[in-house]
Amino acid sequence: MTQIITTVAELRAALAQLKPTRTGLVPTMGALHDGHVSLVQDAKKHCDHVVVSIFVNPTQFAPHEDFDAYPRTLDADLKKLADSAAIVFAPTAREIYPDGFATTITVGGPSAGLETDFRPHFFAGVATVVAKLLLAALPDVAMFGEKDYQQLLVVRRLVRDLALPVTIIGVPTLREADGLAMSSRNAYLSAEERRIAANLNVILKETIAKARNSDLRAAEAGAIEALWKAGFSHVDYVAIRDAESLDHITTLERPARILAAVKVGSTRLIDNMAI
Ligand code: AMP
Repeated sequence: MTQIITTVAELRAALAQLKPTRTGLVPTMGALHDGHVSLVQDAKKHCDHVVVSIFVNPTQFAPHEDFDAYPRTLDADLKKLADSAAIVFAPTAREIYPDGFATTITVGGPSAGLETDFRPHFFAGVATVVAKLLLAALPDVAMFGEKDYQQLLVVRRLVRDLALPVTIIGVPTLREADGLAMSSRNAYLSAEERRIAANLNVILKETIAKARNSDLRAAEAGAIEALWKAGFSHVDYVAIRDAESLDHITTLERPARILAAVKVGSTRLIDNMAI
């Protein structure tokens, strides 16, 4: 019998019934670590087959950033995924950005401030490549790490605004034993820089405790001072924001998030935690 459907949500639900399997996409830039693997494992709880994309996206790097130096370890990545991913999608830059490519997706809302203050073109690059990867793989679910918290909110906004037919799932940050958030960029750190880097998560935790009993701006300023003292070479920001909108807040009445970006030596690290 013919179904008559009048809403997009119902149309998609009806079409999902006709699809034999559910697929999940885990977009990455490769140099995979256990944090990436946790995204793949989580994806398997939500779908039958996982596609992992590995693509170091040139449009999200500024000319002075580390696009050329970014670690590329495809053979090791494939070994890590051998038991868990049905497909690894490793396109060339030409495949994603064919000659004459002239479209950029700009997301407002959660893109404002924080990373954008220091990497103004970053989220346009991310939103454009994520849209392309979602449209290429057409997954039912796609996994993104809370490690890149602002990015997760930007992707959620993108998917809502364009009504892309995919459920975005955020995955908690996987950390090393000393609390350092796992990141492909940790490979850049010397032994001494690695020691300093471990202070970031500790200082964020201490700042959360202080923020509960003090002015939020004073807590942020205290964190910046503590980061300098711990040996970080630069502090881009430490900010306590609304967890959903990333709006500025002055009290902790609603769920909040502390977000930070720092440099140790020349390596830029980001981290964030729920408050
Ligand atoms: P990247 O390869 O750095 O672009 O990261 C690919 C995906 O893995 C993104 O959704 C990241 O947020 C996520 N991710 C990176 N590091 C971690 C981590 N330590 N824990 C959980 N997810 C992570």
